[in-house]
Amino acid sequence: MNLRVKALAANRQMIKGQCHCGNIKFVFARPQQGKSIAVRACGCSFCQMHGGLYTSDPEGMLDINIDHDQHVNRYRFGTETAEFYVCRRCGVVPIVISEIGAKLYAVVNVNTLQNIDKSDLKRSVTNFDGETTESRLDRRSRTWIPRVSLNIQ
Ligand SMILES: [Zn+2]
Repeated sequence: MNLRVKALAANRQMIKGQCHCGNIKFVFARPQQGKSIAVRACGCSFCQMHGGLYTSDPEGMLDINIDHDQHVNRYRFGTETAEFYVCRRCGVVPIVISEIGAKLYAVVNVNTLQNIDKSDLKRSVTNFDGETTESRLDRRSRTWIPRVSLNIQ
C-alpha cells in the first residue's frame, strides 16, 4: 500500500482483491458512506463470456501491484479504449483500465474481492453497446475510479 492510499485509509473502506494466483493484487479504497457496493454486470461480449461483474467509485482510489508483468495480458477489443488485465498464469481478469486524457481510470472485478460481505453487493445490469466512444469515455471519467496507482515490480 503506498503512502497516498495509507493516508486516506482511516476514513475509507479498504477492499483487497487479487487474481487467483496472486500475480495481480489491488487495494480499492472507497468512501464508507452507505455500505452497499454497486455492482455492474457488463453487457459487452467479452464480459458476457467471462461473467464479468465490476464495481467502481468516483470518490475511490485504487492501488494495483503486479508481481510479474510478463504474465499480464492487456486485452483490448472493439473501440480499444479499455485494457482488460488478464493474468496469463491463472486466466482471471481482476481489473480494467481506461486511459483518458493521460489519466488512468479503473473498475475492479467484484468476483476477485476478498474482504467483503457478499450480501453488501447490489447488482444492476447495464449494456453500453450503443454508446459512442466519446460518451463512453465521458461516462468512465465520471463513474470509474479516478485515482489509480499502478505498481509493477
Ligand atoms: Zn493470476
